[in-house]
Formats: sequence, structure tokens, C-alpha cells
Amino acid sequence: MSFQGISDMTRNIRLSKSVIGEEEKRAVLGVLDREMLGMGSEVEEFEIALQGFFHRSVACVTNGTVALQLALEGCGVGPGDEVVVPSLTYIACFQAITAAGAIPVCCDIDESTLTMSPKDLSKRITKRTKAIMPVHYAGDPGNLQQILDIAAEKKIRIVEDAAHAFGSKCQGRLVGSFGDIACFSFDGIKNITSGEGGCVVSNDLDLIERVKTSRLLGIPNDSLKRAKGERTWLFCNVTRGCRGHMSNIMAAIGIEQLRKFEKFAKIRKELASYYDEVLSNNAYVRILRRNYADIVPHIYVVRITNPENRETLRQQLRMSGIQTGVHYQPNHLIRSICPPPVYPLPITESVFPSLLTLPLHPDLTKSDIEWVGAMLLKNSAEMVGQS
Ligand SMILES: *Cc1c(COP(=O)(O)O)cnc(C)c1O
Repeated sequence: MSFQGISDMTRNIRLSKSVIGEEEKRAVLGVLDREMLGMGSEVEEFEIALQGFFHRSVACVTNGTVALQLALEGCGVGPGDEVVVPSLTYIACFQAITAAGAIPVCCDIDESTLTMSPKDLSKRITKRTKAIMPVHYAGDPGNLQQILDIAAEKKIRIVEDAAHAFGSKCQGRLVGSFGDIACFSFDGIKNITSGEGGCVVSNDLDLIERVKTSRLLGIPNDSLKRAKGERTWLFCNVTRGCRGHMSNIMAAIGIEQLRKFEKFAKIRKELASYYDEVLSNNAYVRILRRNYADIVPHIYVVRITNPENRETLRQQLRMSGIQTGVHYQPNHLIRSICPPPVYPLPITESVFPSLLTLPLHPDLTKSDIEWVGAMLLKNSAEMVGQS
């Protein structure tokens, strides 16, 4: 093979990255020139644009983790309440649940999608379960409809962690446009970014109002005033809240990114499909088959057949200029997050060692993917040969 023996340090294929153009730069300069940097008209404009996208109410906040926390608190989740969440997720979910004072209850996943298992969820629900937090791993909403059905029957709120799933569809319906509450992240590497940032989407108008109040230190109606360039000076009826609002600088980036979303989505889908094709005859990796007609992939994850070699393989790929990741260390195995006793989650535990995330972002090229595919094959084969 032509790639054999070449260690190409000139390549630097990033695992993920922001894709920023002149439009975002101009928009930020516009905000800087007006010298109104905090929360104001750009945030209002971004919220209106997102409402047009989801056909639901939207509250923008400072990041996706705060979106999850304020959504939970907005549903009345607090001390002593339980929230069921898959263990295989970003630690942000667990921090958001505990920040709300609640107890995360770990749940297993389905092996085909790596998303919350409805069957295991049913086992984890108790009298204290106040909310369920499904995570749309890699952009896949998985069995969301089944989870919504279980929640409806038990009258439990659903706060979707849709951080990976901006623009994804579930049986043809846009994630965030149906269901109870969906939370998105606009951090630097997500499907669209506002620098940092996030939002809560729901058709529960009272919930959205509560989030809008709590993001501004619990001061009622301050969001409305700030959109007009005013603010509240004399406080009454203040509730518990935090500094969780979005700034005009962030929103200005977000507005431009949302305009580019269809383009980004098309590229992400094409690149993930191309990975599937390139890796299809690599015996050392198993592809997670996903329907990219519906799913906008945020990350591209494969399962390697020799998990014991994962760290060495990652190092060797790094030497070929390829960054990789591991999404995610299961939270129930992190002692400081889930103190013992911990019950086993068999699928999560058996899947985790084999997970490997390959580079995916809209600036990646097909030639990059061919290089990743070739290096993955070469290094995997060599390691098996040596052992
Ligand atoms: C990014 C992310 C979050 C949190 O979003 P931030 O904006 O980074 O706070 C939550 N959950 C998952 C699965 C994520 O990937």
C-alpha cells in the first residue's frame, strides 16, 4: 500500500474544530463596534431564529450544561429527586443533575445505538424519579419515542440532552420540535457554535419563562428589558437563579452559524457515510450503522475489535497526524461522581473499552478520511501481528 511506512507529521487532522468564516468575524465586530456586549438585541434575534427553526419556544443560555441544569430546575427537580441518565455520556449531565441538587441514577444503553435503553430505564424508575435525561449520543436520538411513551405513562418529565443532535431527526421529526424539553449546546465543536452557548427548547411556555428568569439571577422580566437595552434596578419577586445568560457576542456568532447549518449538516452526513464506506472492509473495526438521512453526526465513533490495544493505537494514529477521542468514560465507574455501591451496567461496560472516536468536522476532506482509514488498518494489523 502506498501509505506503508510513512509517518506523516505534516498532517494535523483534528478530532473536531469550529468552522468560522468572514460572516461570524464581521458579526462580532459589529457587536464590538456598538459597544453593547452583554445580553441584548442579538440574543433576542438568535432566539427568534431558533424559534423559527424548532417551531417552539427557546431560551438561550451560557452553555449546554447550564441549559440542562436550568431545565431540570424549571421542572421543579431539586434535592432528593432522582434523574435517570445513561452512564455513557459527557460528565456535564451528571454535574447538571447534581447542581440542581438531584441524584443521578445511571442507566444502561442499547448496543446498536449506544443510547438509553428503554428496557433498563423502566427498571431504574422509582417513586423519587422526577425526570429522565436521554442523551442523543453522536446525534442519534435512538429510542426517543419509546422513552417519551414511558415518561408519559408515569407522568415524569423528559429533559433531552440533545447537545450532539442539533438538526437531527427522529422518524422524520426534528429533535427539539416534539417531546417535552430539549437542551442543546453551542460550544466550539458542536454542530453549530456560538463560541460557548446553549439553549432550552420546549412548548411549555411557563418552563421557558422560568429558565429566562433564572438565567438572569432570578430577576423577573429582565430578559425583556435587556432586549430593549434596559435593565432592572429595583428587585422584587426574585427567585433563585444564576448568571446563565448568553452575550450579544455569542449570539452574533450563533446567528451566522445557524444560517450555515444546512451546509454543515450536509458535509457531516457525507463525511460519516464516506467513513462507513472506507472502513467497511477493515476487519479491525466495527461500524455503528446509523441512518444519515435523519441523523446529523456530531462525532464519528467506531468499535475496535482489539480493545486492549486502544491506547497504543491512539498513540500511533497521533504520530500519523490523527487526533482521536474516547466518548465517554462511563460515569458510574468514576468514583467521585458515583460513589459506591455501584450496580453493574453490562452493555455500557462491555462496549466502552472498544469505543474510538475518529476526526469529524466540516473542514475534514475525503482524502483525510482515506488517510485515517489507511493508518487505522495498517496500525491495527501490525499490532495484531506483534501480539
Ligand atoms: C457538549 C455537551 C454538553 C454540554 O454542553 P456545554 O455547552 O459544553 O456545557 C452536554 N452533554 C453532552 C453529551 C455534550 O456533548
